[in-house]
Amino acid sequence: MIDYHIHTARCGHASGKMFDYVARACELSLREIGFADHLPLLFKQDPTLTMRIDQLGEYIQAVEDLKKEFPEIAIKAGIEADYLPGYEEETARLLKSYDFDFVIGSVHFIDGWGFDDSRYIDGYKDWDIYKLYTRYFGLVADAAKTGLFDVIGHLDLIKKYNFRPEADITPLVRDTVGAVKDAGACVEINTAGLRKPAGEMYPSADILRLCFESDVPITLGSDAHKPEEVGKDFDLAISAAKDAGYDRVAVFNKRVPQYISLDIF
Ligand SMILES: [Zn+2]
Ligand SMILES: [Zn+2]
Repeated sequence: MIDYHIHTARCGHASGKMFDYVARACELSLREIGFADHLPLLFKQDPTLTMRIDQLGEYIQAVEDLKKEFPEIAIKAGIEADYLPGYEEETARLLKSYDFDFVIGSVHFIDGWGFDDSRYIDGYKDWDIYKLYTRYFGLVADAAKTGLFDVIGHLDLIKKYNFRPEADITPLVRDTVGAVKDAGACVEINTAGLRKPAGEMYPSADILRLCFESDVPITLGSDAHKPEEVGKDFDLAISAAKDAGYDRVAVFNKRVPQYISLDIF
């Protein structure tokens, strides 16, 4: 299988050597992995969230070195970029300056509030939860519309701390999935949600079915921030993909997708 969402210690909140992440992937006989560490934020510098801009070249080089060290597995150089309204051009410029295999676009901030960061969890008190979901899914749709991203990261991350609206969010999600489809991007099945208060993958089974019905392709990612998280709960991810109707996943080479069977290991 493949794992297309792996971090490195450069982001300041992941641990272990890149070597150990790859070694774990080999232990699991994964055929392909993609590092996707956090791209530096353009609105602030926070060494606990992302690498510095001057570390980008060295990050790509480290992936290149690992390719030589581990010929038995395909290793791709990806990046997880934040969607930050108002910073689209700067983001585009930064993404163009390196030869990435794929770019995951993620929303981790709402008007500067890091809603998926436990240090700022108090912020949920200021919101009506349905309005918060509306705002979040609107931002994810805007992220897709920029066309900057190959994959939309953890599509329903807003559920991370299990604040759930009472009303049905399907209409919000439908618009967002439509925007992802129009942009020609994929979504990822991200197993990290299973390790968080939400207790389920991103996206939920219902949203994944909506993605399948809208003909949006998928990739798979663990969002590993430790070597032992590589490929974590992928048996569940694969069953979720199949239950939603999928039989293939996307892999990327220099930002061009290719599709492989979910049954190929
Ligand atoms: Zn992270
Ligand atoms: Zn993320």
